[in-house]
Amino acid sequence: MRVSVFGLGYVGCVSAACLASMGHEVIGVDVNQVKVDLVNDGKAPVVEERIGELTAEVVRSGALRATVDVREAIMGSEVSLICVGTPSEPNGSLCTTYLERVTEQIGAAVAERGGRQTVVFRSTMLPGTCLNLLVPILEKAVGGTAGVDIGVAVNPEFLREGTSVRDFFDPPKTVIGELDPASGDVVASLYDSLPGEVFRVPVPTAEAIKYADNAFHGLKIGFANELGAVCQALGVDSHQVMDVFLADRKLNISPAYLRPGFAFGGSCLPKDLRSLVYAAQRADISVPILSHVLPSNADHLQRAVELVERTGKRRVGLFGLSFKPGTDDLRESPLVELAERLFGKGYDLRIYDANVSLSRLIGANREYIETRLPHLAQLLADSAEEVVEHSEVCLVGTKDPAVLSALPHGAGPVLIDLIRLPDAEERRTEPGYVGLAW
Ligand code: NAD
Repeated sequence: MRVSVFGLGYVGCVSAACLASMGHEVIGVDVNQVKVDLVNDGKAPVVEERIGELTAEVVRSGALRATVDVREAIMGSEVSLICVGTPSEPNGSLCTTYLERVTEQIGAAVAERGGRQTVVFRSTMLPGTCLNLLVPILEKAVGGTAGVDIGVAVNPEFLREGTSVRDFFDPPKTVIGELDPASGDVVASLYDSLPGEVFRVPVPTAEAIKYADNAFHGLKIGFANELGAVCQALGVDSHQVMDVFLADRKLNISPAYLRPGFAFGGSCLPKDLRSLVYAAQRADISVPILSHVLPSNADHLQRAVELVERTGKRRVGLFGLSFKPGTDDLRESPLVELAERLFGKGYDLRIYDANVSLSRLIGANREYIETRLPHLAQLLADSAEEVVEHSEVCLVGTKDPAVLSALPHGAGPVLIDLIRLPDAEERRTEPGYVGLAW
């Protein structure tokens, strides 16, 4: 199929490269010229496992190209995947500005070209957004009826940053919210060589499923971290507790997100929880469990700040800055929040994160780092050794092998392990080891 992908961020560039490698003819569109140029040079605009090689391969073979021109993309495709951002507004509500804009642009280009286009929304949006907000915009722009003159579907994305290419080719499920069966058929045929169960459901159900997923992931992490904190205070190894808890075959609970560790963050879980709670409040529905997941997460982050304060030392090295290992994504990263708290309290901080430094070098994340985090950018070091050298306290939030091998054993800086390092068992008996996740 000929596919246009709107938005070349984490979801869009992975979807575009993976679809191109499956034999589709793909054209990526972004308003950001830097991202478009990177893709046309065969480089991925994000740092993720396998995405660099895959992008180079499909651009070289001619299966993927990128443009800033919406009309060109619509001329060259019969299906459009929308992967633009849906961040939180300051009050927690969902920002639909980018969705509205791109929907209008696509509608206008389709009206000019003529013929039926299938518009597929992959962005996360609250139930009702597609039918009540975006379909009317599309119908007005096209001058026709959705489901008849133009196809519409919602196809939420379940990839996890860090393993997104792997997740694309082995999805946990494929959800297709279809306005009409023909639109659903187009989406199903896009992915027909992929494994996993396909669920064809009404449009608002597809929108809601994504929120069920993300709210539950946040809830599980909060549960594990609270339990971890209680266990630690009572002198119990929480990971051993979890191992046995999860081994209960009759309960059949997935271990995903249930290992006590550091606070969660990223561009999805916090903002999706925020907009779900905001929507519930607007509908006068009391949601005490959902509305306490983010405060629980904030308390956990505070525990890490207190561990540093308790050392009484001032020179701190932070290892890891992106919101989780394997990605360069800094949005709502709990490690960024931790760094900012320590920086604000006047600690003499140095930071090492290989993916963030690489991303800054190739230009993908440069603007974000330099405009939003200039105070942290100046603290980024080129090597883990340099940060160890500087530090009286090493705060470790990554399992990057380069960091693990640089961290000294025995006497030396205090080591605060935020994530339960692979050699935590051994380190635990060493002087200066402090674990957040025991
Ligand atoms: P992102 O911010 O990384 O990328 C969005 C891109 O859209 C940006 O490059 C931006 O320049 C571009 N854009 C904005 N307006 C545009 C327009 N009119 N035309 C073309 N491009 C435009 O976002 P993301 O992390 O890829 O997330 C995209 C959506 O997918 C969000 O709704 C998010 O909640 C959802 N999602 C994200 C993930 C994830 O792991 N990041 C996972 C599942 C779902």
